[in-house]
Amino acid sequence: MTLRLGVPNKGRLNERTIELLRKSGLDLGEDIGRKLYVKVANQDLEVMFVRAQDIPGFIAAGAIDMGITGLDELAESGHELVNALNLEFGYCHLSVAVPEESGITDASQIKDGSRIATSFPNLTKRYFESMGKDVSVIVVTGAAEIMPYLGISDYIVDLVSTGSTLKMNRLREVGTIVESQAAVITSESALAEHSVKIQEIVDSIKSVIIAEEKKYLMANIPRDKLAEAEAIIPGMDGPTILEVAGNADFVAVHAVVDSDKVFHTINELKKIGARGILTTPIERLVN
Ligand code: AMP
Repeated sequence: MTLRLGVPNKGRLNERTIELLRKSGLDLGEDIGRKLYVKVANQDLEVMFVRAQDIPGFIAAGAIDMGITGLDELAESGHELVNALNLEFGYCHLSVAVPEESGITDASQIKDGSRIATSFPNLTKRYFESMGKDVSVIVVTGAAEIMPYLGISDYIVDLVSTGSTLKMNRLREVGTIVESQAAVITSESALAEHSVKIQEIVDSIKSVIIAEEKKYLMANIPRDKLAEAEAIIPGMDGPTILEVAGNADFVAVHAVVDSDKVFHTINELKKIGARGILTTPIERLVN
């Protein structure tokens, strides 16, 4: 049966998810803007565009086999699913926040009967229950920050990434409920049916993420400095060493290097007399 992959149709996770899928070699075609689903041209795979918060439920119901969404959505859904890969974007945390002037500095100081506005009612209830507190949870679909000022709630539980929105609204974080990032989610039953295909997709997305953190570096190195060059750019299994036609004094050395070390590496190579140093991006890196 064709594998079905759920992808956020809009919002914060949409753009990067599409980019990751395209880079991993899935042909999503042009102009996917308003499409509800895409039959991937080169694979036995359908991509369904749905709301990030619906993805865990759809997987649990077997309507889709896997999906990309936030771990906060997975936790809120309460479904027992499988996190197949953390995607290292969409970082945020679900926090309890209070008006600055409330005097509260820790969630434990929140009193029974307080009203908490949130779009994460399940996690919020569970959190306060685990603290033995009896609060009233008011479900909102967005803009929780404004609720204390409208008098609709006393406090809020909302997603925070930088904290600047809270600050702008004169709210203070006093407790973290869950840490989140985007992830590839699937289920035991989908894995039982499609384990090879799911693993292939996970591996190819992983190869893109790894490749983005690396560069391919090439340089011509004086032959008598080869040992030093190998110490500077050990590469993955040792650098590739090639002859330079018509120049016996130099060899070409190629290696994969960490993107954040490129600046330092190039300076080190220059010190040992390297010439013609160049770096290129890597599309995918499979180990
Ligand atoms: P959406 O509501 O479709 O924009 O998607 C919201 C999802 O994006 C959340 O469930 C989180 O997983 C993720 N996210 C990452 N950072 C934030 C943030 N600062 N605020 C809200 N959602 C965030």
